[in-house]
Amino acid sequence: MSNHIRVEFVLGDITKQDTDAIVNAANSSLLGGGGVDGAIHRAGGPQILQECKEIRSRQGGCPTGQAVITSGGNLPARYVIHTVGPVWHGGGHGEAALLRESYLNCLRLAREKGIKSIAFPSISTGAYRYPVEQAASIAVAAVREFADNHDLPGQIRFVLFNDRHLAVYLAAWNKAAECQ
Ligand code: ADP
Repeated sequence: MSNHIRVEFVLGDITKQDTDAIVNAANSSLLGGGGVDGAIHRAGGPQILQECKEIRSRQGGCPTGQAVITSGGNLPARYVIHTVGPVWHGGGHGEAALLRESYLNCLRLAREKGIKSIAFPSISTGAYRYPVEQAASIAVAAVREFADNHDLPGQIRFVLFNDRHLAVYLAAWNKAAECQ
């Protein structure tokens, strides 16, 4: 893995992160929702939703696996990258490839914008019901793959909302490191 990218795992609230960008686990309407999405719009104020609506009128929302960027409104982060993870339908509907694309497209967009640090929540593991063990191994593999080939963003933070999720992500990271 590139020596230039630092990856970290913390317990916390995505809206409080002081990274250049935070990632929103959005839905394809881009009009807000519960979980991470609701928390980001509550904490970030109306500017973020306004920009989401402008994107929506240009391109009609955001397909699963894709990502779009807005400002961070009142958040500490300067940008919000909104991605739409897959809804879990049992694993036989391309969920793994779509979740991987969500992570990679956020990282590509961040790099294009010159973003130096980014914080991810555990995409798809709330309302979208993706089993967290499987989601974690996809998330860490995508980040490792990106970090093998790029130097930016130099800091990638996973922000987990409870102890169990933190332990699962750390275990997935350690397992991926052992397999190298
Ligand atoms: P999705 O619809 O992609 O499943 P959710 O927002 O419902 O997205 O949940 C994604 C994950 O984010 C869940 O594991 C949930 O526990 C966690 N989560 C919820 N609120 C926050 C928050 N404020 N900061 C970080 N993680 C959060």
